Amino acid sequence: DTIGENLDRTVRRFPDRDALVEAATGRRWTYAEFAADVDTLALGLLGLGITKGDRVGIWAPNRAEWTLIQYATAKIGAILVTVNPAYRTHELEYVVRQSGMRLLIAAERFKTSDYAGMIAQARPNCPALEFTVLLDGPDHEALLARGRTADPAELARAAAGLSPDDPINIQYTSGTTGFPKGATLSHRNILNGYFVGELCHYTEQDRVCIPVPFYHCFGMVMGNLACTSHGAAMVIPAPSFDPAATLAAVQAEACTSLYGVPTMFIAELADPAFDTYDLTSLRTGIMAGSPCPVEVMKEVIDRMGMAEVSICYGMTETSPVSTQTRADDSVERRVSTVGRVGPHLEVKVVDPQTGRTVPRGEPGELCTRGYSVMLGYWGEPERTAEAVDAAGWMHTGDLAVMDEDGYLAITGRIKDMVIRGGENVYPREVEEFLHTHPDVLDVQVIGVPDAKYGEELMAWVRMREGAEPLTAEAVRAYCDGRLAHFKVPRYVHVVDEFPMTVTGKVRKVEMREAAARLLG
Ligand code: ATP
Ligand code: MG
Repeated sequence: DTIGENLDRTVRRFPDRDALVEAATGRRWTYAEFAADVDTLALGLLGLGITKGDRVGIWAPNRAEWTLIQYATAKIGAILVTVNPAYRTHELEYVVRQSGMRLLIAAERFKTSDYAGMIAQARPNCPALEFTVLLDGPDHEALLARGRTADPAELARAAAGLSPDDPINIQYTSGTTGFPKGATLSHRNILNGYFVGELCHYTEQDRVCIPVPFYHCFGMVMGNLACTSHGAAMVIPAPSFDPAATLAAVQAEACTSLYGVPTMFIAELADPAFDTYDLTSLRTGIMAGSPCPVEVMKEVIDRMGMAEVSICYGMTETSPVSTQTRADDSVERRVSTVGRVGPHLEVKVVDPQTGRTVPRGEPGELCTRGYSVMLGYWGEPERTAEAVDAAGWMHTGDLAVMDEDGYLAITGRIKDMVIRGGENVYPREVEEFLHTHPDVLDVQVIGVPDAKYGEELMAWVRMREGAEPLTAEAVRAYCDGRLAHFKVPRYVHVVDEFPMTVTGKVRKVEMREAAARLLG
């Protein structure tokens, strides 16, 4: 299927079910209404001269128009370039130029982001950018008006020329380890969302609360596409993540599923009013994107009632999900592994030096192969060849261990592994242990340079409300006798927040730089 065909099928089956709800404004669309607005917009884009293969950028926080544009561009085979809403002029200019963008659709402003002003600044340096359309502005109205008066047959003509293997997205990675890379993905690649929804047992009865950003695959594929390919409703709680707004949307819209990276669930569970929300409608949800602490998973099951919650593992380059826990996996497995390989995909764990598959139970680099592996990094064949080998395996850069039954545990990123005095330390393991400390709200562990051991461990800790700041001494005492001495952090740094990407991931690169400054 192309994404357009996939949507059309859902619309025929469930025209009167809710497709999209914007909780902050109360705006809502049934699938029939959603399809009509998508088609109007698609016809408007055709009227503007946008056709198959043209790059169309979207630069806005989460809102209904984002989703409408996602499907409108897919219907005519334009390549949607999803621009990080936290970008500033310099980064905008980079993606506009790098992708060869013809049209940029953007919000006018949001919080401290003056999108319109930044576009005006960048434009002289972006000669290939022919059109910009501000949502809520007259150009957007004109686009829709053009679509309303166009001949609908044009849409069918455009759709006839599309194939599932055409590129339709350039999605940028989170930029956790460096500058984001533009993964080019096809219709077939991102139908990954269909399988994510299947493993969550979505039907037209489901209502999925999506507080994760749309510009990233977690929102647009695991969220939107999982919904539209099963007839479920997409619920947008707020333009950007807000724990209280998320909990309120779950209650008001009787959501059955809730998404988030671990830090979002941590913030929701710590909301002072948490106990006043009625979350009994929740059945499932997905936690993914970075290591999911066992303690947090347990609370999500017990206190949020998400009995069937699953952990997914993946990356933008694999559209994104490669492994997922299943609803019938034991709780133990669902809190401690990232599940088994997804349908129609392969995974293996290899020795990064030799490339040979390691025995079960031993750590190595996780590799994935199958329909979901990206077409490549846009315009960067060399970087693509470094990531995807000749046999089609995506080398993830993540360390994993596979057990006898095929369940995988992610032990961290290769780049984050610490080698202290010759011993390999996986920060993940230390983080899991420190999460059991009653005063610890959240914790991240990094390696810092050390003259004697090569590297030493430093824990960054966020304290629970009212708790005394932890000292290195207190951490040592807590670990004593329970954690091997070489895994005990030498330094402890108490903070209010970690440096984060917009997708809610902790930027350990930035933490290491800051730590180097702290230690002088
Ligand atoms: P960049 O590639 O730009 O540095 P990024 O790798 O964070 O950023 P994404 O594609 O958004 O960009 O994220 C994929 C990565 O997220 C994976 O490679 C992995 O390190 C991490 N990840 C995703 N899901 C999980 C999970 N369930 N457990 C542990 N880590 C995860
Ligand atoms: Mg990455």
